[in-house]
Amino acid sequence: MTWVERNRDQIEKIRAYVLEFGEAHPAEFEWFQAGSHPLFPLAVESDRGSALLLAYCALYQGISARKLSQFLAYLWKEYDADFFRLNKLPFDELQARVANAPGLGEWDLRGKAPGILRSVCDFFFKHGKLLPWVAQTGGEAAIQILADEIFMMGKTSEFKSKPRYFLWLLTQLPDAEPQRFWTPETLLPITPGHLRFVREFGPLKERRRSPWATPQEKLSYLNRFFRMLFPDRPWIVYAALDAYLKPAASAAMGIASEGAPSNPLRAEEKKWLCRETLGGCLQCPLAPTCPGREDV
Ligand code: SF4
Repeated sequence: MTWVERNRDQIEKIRAYVLEFGEAHPAEFEWFQAGSHPLFPLAVESDRGSALLLAYCALYQGISARKLSQFLAYLWKEYDADFFRLNKLPFDELQARVANAPGLGEWDLRGKAPGILRSVCDFFFKHGKLLPWVAQTGGEAAIQILADEIFMMGKTSEFKSKPRYFLWLLTQLPDAEPQRFWTPETLLPITPGHLRFVREFGPLKERRRSPWATPQEKLSYLNRFFRMLFPDRPWIVYAALDAYLKPAASAAMGIASEGAPSNPLRAEEKKWLCRETLGGCLQCPLAPTCPGREDV
């Protein structure tokens, strides 16, 4: 018997756990109009809202989501709606503003950020409204084009986490209709939370060694698990499995760092995002076998 055949009850519990996250939104959406911490006067589902999400994803590397949102808010104050014309405005002024941006610390990407922002604006000018473009292009093809055409978006990365995360964010927009662009080939990015979850509740629990040899096999393996859970809408699995034993303080559901999962139970911060979202472990279908549960 296969793992799926032997674990039908467990799979139903996992599905119930995932469905508990149905009302949750990506933390990034709180920065937009009507969010709890608005930084930008844009509706996240607007054309410019999704363009700003693309800029965020392109820059999301080696920096916390909070710092990156503050950096983008600083640029918004400097440029206002001209933010989307950065490819047409003087490059040396953009470089100076980025160099003077406060609170970035030793961000490795700071020197490349002006070029990345210009590249995102070039992309927006070339392809127009992003959601219709993705729907017309198809999910996995869109991921490849995003990676190829935007500077530092993952052209040489085997995981292509930045464009995959952008596609996932699009699935979360109100009225996005992800089935219009999420093709059978489209893959979600993977995160340490996903790996923790599959090691605890999925088929990796029974294995001493990971069954993949390459990044592509790892990506495919995890995505087969997501699709087994929800064949018609695998994107709904992302946030729930990512939140598993993830410190709530790191809140943004965050792009994947694709490395080995950290040992979460050693973390000082034990306010897990899964517990916070579900309102306590007592509400959780996985509580009976979860090593992180608390009786609250
Ligand atoms: S820590 Fe609590 S909420 Fe999170 S999976 Fe375990 S039992 Fe569920």
